[in-house]
Amino acid sequence: MQPKLFSEEPPPPQLPPWEIDDLKNRKIAKVVFPAAVTGGRMPTALDYLVPNHLVAQIETGVRVLVPLGKGNRPQIGYCIDIQPWGIAQPNVKLKPVHSLLDERRLLDDKMIELTRWIAHYYLCPIGQVLEAILPAGVRSHAGTRLTTVLYVADNEDGRRQTADGSRKILTPKQLHILDTLQKSPEPLTMQELQRAAKCSAAPINTLKQLGFVHTKTMRRQRAGDCVPGPATQSPAPYQLNADQRRVLSEIVDAIQQRRHETFLLHGVTGSGKTEVYIQAIQEVVKRKKQAIVLVPEISLTPQTVGRFQSRFASVAVLHSHLTDAERHRQWSNIASGDVQVVVGARSAIFAPLPRLGLIVIDEEHENSFKQNSTPRYHAREVARKRAEIEGIPLILGSATPSLEAWASSGDTVAGSLPPSVLLSMPHRVKNLQLPSVEIVDLREEVRLRTTRGAIHRQLHQAIHETLLAKGQIILLLNHRGFSTQIHCPACGEAIKCPHCDVSLTHHKAEEIALCHHCEYQMPAPRECPKCRFVGIRYIGFGTQKLEPEIKSRFPNATVLRMDTDSMQGHGAHERAFSQFRSGEVQILLGTQMIAKGLDFPNVMLVGVINADTALHLPDFRAAERTFHLITQVAGRTGRGERGGRVIVQTFCPDHAAILAAAKHDYNQFVQQELPMRKSLGYPPYCRMIRIVVRSENEAKAREFAELFAERLAAAPCAAQGAFTLLGPAPAPIAKSRDYYRFHIQLRSEQGDALRECVRSVSLALKTPPEIQWIVDVDPVDML
Ligand SMILES: [Zn+2]
Ligand SMILES: [Zn+2]
Repeated sequence: MQPKLFSEEPPPPQLPPWEIDDLKNRKIAKVVFPAAVTGGRMPTALDYLVPNHLVAQIETGVRVLVPLGKGNRPQIGYCIDIQPWGIAQPNVKLKPVHSLLDERRLLDDKMIELTRWIAHYYLCPIGQVLEAILPAGVRSHAGTRLTTVLYVADNEDGRRQTADGSRKILTPKQLHILDTLQKSPEPLTMQELQRAAKCSAAPINTLKQLGFVHTKTMRRQRAGDCVPGPATQSPAPYQLNADQRRVLSEIVDAIQQRRHETFLLHGVTGSGKTEVYIQAIQEVVKRKKQAIVLVPEISLTPQTVGRFQSRFASVAVLHSHLTDAERHRQWSNIASGDVQVVVGARSAIFAPLPRLGLIVIDEEHENSFKQNSTPRYHAREVARKRAEIEGIPLILGSATPSLEAWASSGDTVAGSLPPSVLLSMPHRVKNLQLPSVEIVDLREEVRLRTTRGAIHRQLHQAIHETLLAKGQIILLLNHRGFSTQIHCPACGEAIKCPHCDVSLTHHKAEEIALCHHCEYQMPAPRECPKCRFVGIRYIGFGTQKLEPEIKSRFPNATVLRMDTDSMQGHGAHERAFSQFRSGEVQILLGTQMIAKGLDFPNVMLVGVINADTALHLPDFRAAERTFHLITQVAGRTGRGERGGRVIVQTFCPDHAAILAAAKHDYNQFVQQELPMRKSLGYPPYCRMIRIVVRSENEAKAREFAELFAERLAAAPCAAQGAFTLLGPAPAPIAKSRDYYRFHIQLRSEQGDALRECVRSVSLALKTPPEIQWIVDVDPVDML
């Protein structure tokens, strides 16, 4: 990132000399640095003197070039605060700010406050948070170039208007040129002014020589980057049902009163949540305010985006496929205040809207809202804070709210969670029924040896009937590849990745054994790599194995497989969904990417091939995830007048999560799950911090994790019983990409005390060079 800036604007060889200026007006800039500069372990800001010539220009939220360290190497930092020079410390010698890198503030005061909060809450350096908030394309000014522009100084106007000598020398043509330039909202280049004033370069040059027109260098966007798509036709006004009206009026009330409030909108699949979001945003837009809508990346489809684009004049879409230049352009558009609605994935929560009036998070329970690299923030919690700072409402929407969101709503606020208002939409729109769910006991099927493949009798029969009725089918199998395990009966073990503690998956098209964790691959083995036994077995079902089975069972049906292997390349998802929407494809099978958000009225059958894929993971949220996945995929059917049915195949037909999902009964699920979490002391009844230590040297990793745990246990707040400590123990994925991993779990009802303890202990720790560690506050990934 940095070299590019330097190559464009090389700093002068020498830093300006230390100068004692006007003492009264002296200012201090508080500067923080990106993690790459400080190694990520410098939590506080450094003080720099603002030289007199920069005092008028410097603002918080701009980047500065400052000398750092003993060698005074110039480094890019972020100015996060400006303070007057304290009279108390006149003898302190500060290094001066060398120059400013941004013409405009990248962050306003509210965003700086949010940045500080994230750094504090998620225990990471503020510089690292800033790097996450500001896209790389914005930091590198991607898609812009330095241009020489012309402008008229403010005081020149007076000189022309008064009848003094200087006016007389101007010809009408020259006056016209000056007028054109003055009326332009932005400074113009030579060519632009020639075009606008319909003149040649000569009279402009004369005006420059006379001192009426000045030049300066400024950054401008290159033309030709993509712009938001045009708004499509507005559909007819949408009639809300009673549930939607009731819920909307509560939200509108908060918007009208400009009140910060968090709403948990619990609406069953197909209850019309998006229409509520849209009409709430219309209220906001009416008041000349703006909104952010966050959706999981996987749901950021043309169908979703189109619903917003058809109702609002200017919608900016932020997705992960944008180039740096596109992202920078979008960011500038948003910052200029021209955009009404920003629709995007996780990081769109940082969109720099100047008049934010509402934040919506759809599918609030999705794990993808948690970032899995530093800063490990959860967009839901950041949104809560941003809405609080802005004093605006926040809507968290889901058919299956996370237990964290649920437990903070209604009468049962758990622990220290911030409270929210529960709004329920228990019915589908147009009085459509939720589909009936049948459970197939796979133990029985296996015992009776009725089927050889993955599709059992009942599901086969249902697919057959649905195809006859010209309905469409969605089949979920949340495991990609062909065989999910390569097993040696002689040594009794599954064949694992040499770099990870993960079983290899057989991919038949390429005849490889692939690690889904690190992408390591080897030719599919014919004999056991360990004991050379040749009777190696390929077991378990992935989507690649399901596809030929479906094709051979239903040779006349058109089948499409959607998983990360088949959906390579930009636009692959859109093409697949449009084929399904048009009816060209009858059976859509795939991993969880087909489970969510899709709204196709002709889907009359959903089959879950194996409901247990996530049920037995060593994660306290395994049941919750299973419940979410089955409920969400079941919700894809019954959206048309012909109704729908769901068949769930499982080895655990008595599991509470599966039984509750079969009844679409969220309340039943939480009534069983919450008391269990409470008695075991898991979130949402406590705050959790997970520390993961890794090293290529297993003994060193263990040793350091033990030291870390000892220090935590010996900390003063531990003595007061502020938290419970578990571990260190090998992480469930004990080895990843050749690194051995150990983790420590800390749980406490007092989140702040726990954070402070981890902060003070970790700051005092000396980390050996062969060790890396992370702190994950409110972890979602437990593996
Ligand atoms: Zn073997
Ligand atoms: Zn691996």
